[in-house]
Amino acid sequence: MSVLVVGSIALDTVKTPVEEHADLLGGSASYAAVGASFFSPVKLVGIVGEDFPNEHIAYLKGRNIDLGGLQQVPGKTFRWSGEYMWDMNTRETRSVELNVFEHFTPTLPSAYVESPVVLLANIAPSLQSHVLDQMSRPQFVIADTMDLWINIARGDLEALLQRVDMLILNDSEARQFTQETSLIKAGAKIRTMGPKYVAIKKGEHGCLLFGDGEFFSCGAYPLEDIHDPTGAGDTFAGGLAGYLAARGNGSIGFSQLRHAVVFGSVLASFNVEAFSLERLRSLTQMDIEARYQAFHKMSQFEVLG
Ligand code: AMP
Repeated sequence: MSVLVVGSIALDTVKTPVEEHADLLGGSASYAAVGASFFSPVKLVGIVGEDFPNEHIAYLKGRNIDLGGLQQVPGKTFRWSGEYMWDMNTRETRSVELNVFEHFTPTLPSAYVESPVVLLANIAPSLQSHVLDQMSRPQFVIADTMDLWINIARGDLEALLQRVDMLILNDSEARQFTQETSLIKAGAKIRTMGPKYVAIKKGEHGCLLFGDGEFFSCGAYPLEDIHDPTGAGDTFAGGLAGYLAARGNGSIGFSQLRHAVVFGSVLASFNVEAFSLERLRSLTQMDIEARYQAFHKMSQFEVLG
């Protein structure tokens, strides 16, 4: 099964306490599509300007990502710039230039409308809904979001939640959205708003997965050196969606989601080891499998009699 990914495609400028790099390949859809491509074929919907480097297009194509839904239009590509504080967790957005993204309307080629697994990566919830309007009954729909939409488009986000199977968001967004300090209450509350499953990401502390009376806590792979956390959440969502498309076998339930969350976490842990998507460029299936096994080993404990 393939995954349809829609979201932003950007040229990012990222500053950490030790390094700064400009005009890197970024955007929620870039990370998510490449993350998913390690497990399944991907169909990408997004927009770039005429300044978008051909080498990035060649890279995405080389990852078996179908670019039939990529619009390249006159104007400049969306640009985002952020700076990380010394804890490599706190981030400030320094600038946003919407450029061609300002008038983006995601339009699905006919070959995309029956995609079984859909990942609505971070864009305005009204655009995420517009994608679903064009589709015939996807099997599993995942949506990501961010603080901006909770602040300025809450109604659109609530409408979208009625139509998705799973929402992914981070801990501060879950608290902001539900006004609950407890993430356990927040996860349960979001489930009452529509999605059957909710994943709350906690950065370097892993992720919580909520289902119908079911709960799974997944740690994060312990890394000593993080070079660029940008896109970790998108890579997580992409890996999760790609894994579900590849292994869902027609039925996607809590047990498939538990594995998908672990594979998403494995991919995100690689992504933060270098700027932009650099680490994913050299990543192999053997690397993924080795880290998955290591993850499994460190998550187990014996029940004492
Ligand atoms: P994350 O680190 O998961 O928050 O994702 C960072 C990526 O999101 C960067 O590559 C940005 O280009 C992209 N991004 C930042 N702001 C927005 C926005 N308002 N809409 C869509 N994508 C964005």
